[in-house]
Amino acid sequence: MSFRVDRAGWIAGAALLAGTALIGAALLSPDDEGSERSRADSSRGAPSSSTPPSPSAPPASRASTSPPSSRGWVGDDATDAVDVSRAGLEAPNDAGCTDAPDLMGVAKSVGGGFESYLREATAISGEEESELGRRLERVAPRTGPFRGRWDLADDVATYRDYLTRLVERLVALEGVNTRGLRFRVHLVRNETFNAMAFPGGVLAVHTGLLSGPRAVRSEAELMAVLGHEVAHVERRHPVATYQYVRALLGPGADDAAVLVRMMTLPLSSELEHEADERGTTLMAAAQYDAFAASRLWSRMAAQASGGRHGPEAVGGLLGSVVATARRVVETHPAPHRRCARTLEVARRCQREAQVGRWYRGERNLSERRPGHLHPY
Ligand SMILES: [Zn+2]
Repeated sequence: MSFRVDRAGWIAGAALLAGTALIGAALLSPDDEGSERSRADSSRGAPSSSTPPSPSAPPASRASTSPPSSRGWVGDDATDAVDVSRAGLEAPNDAGCTDAPDLMGVAKSVGGGFESYLREATAISGEEESELGRRLERVAPRTGPFRGRWDLADDVATYRDYLTRLVERLVALEGVNTRGLRFRVHLVRNETFNAMAFPGGVLAVHTGLLSGPRAVRSEAELMAVLGHEVAHVERRHPVATYQYVRALLGPGADDAAVLVRMMTLPLSSELEHEADERGTTLMAAAQYDAFAASRLWSRMAAQASGGRHGPEAVGGLLGSVVATARRVVETHPAPHRRCARTLEVARRCQREAQVGRWYRGERNLSERRPGHLHPY
């Protein structure tokens, strides 16, 4: 359920509270900031630059001082941002972005009905899911492909705080149903482009998604990935997968065996598209350029088609990129379809946008300063 199978933290209570407080502050509209400033100015007796309003002067309205383009945390003067009305102009429009069905997608869709049934039939409480997530977190560092690669000190120091703040931003959005889960982000030292979501809000992100030739190219692209993973958790896809694998392996299987199997089990295309659609909507609500998702998938599609003759034949760095793209394709819908679907969602978000600017954050990504806290 990831970018492959996405599934799999921390956020200490104090960090969560601090993050929430910061997010709350960042959500102040320019108007609120302005009125805070004027109150502070008047309390200090600062001279006002304007003459006192005469009784006949019309009262200053919020609308006149705050045009739509100024609402939200991305101001008109924000760098690394784009006007919403112009955001889709560079949208992909080629063979790498079509909703044409692919054979693999048809095969992957077969299991969808069962997954949905399982999700409905075996609902567990948020508390039970949290406990399950903590159990999987305990076995992950010594399990299968995670062994020796899980939460290496350097990776944690470099990325965790940054990723955690971005996830908090998504989870704090109005209407996100987290069932009281505390989202935690783990790092996996692996050069492939991948992220995973496990039950309980446990996310695992490959370092290859964050740096190197296959990495995301902006904070907005990163938010597309994180939004996808948060959406999986919100829709309980990892829980359904866990329960499915448990039933498959039988009562004798331990958590490590279940975890390994989960990572190799593709979700149906429907659930992946569902996570893409919700994730794109969430990133737009967080005021990030929603078209970043389709740009990401268009690039992946180009890499995948470049591998027609096989990664071995291509060789070298390009071969490795191709291999990554193929791996994503093996467990997820084809990138060209994900591009087309997310493009459609982005256009809808654009039509319905309540703000004038969307953030891209190419520089913030390299500096690992979350845009919503350091927008300029
Ligand atoms: Zn996924």
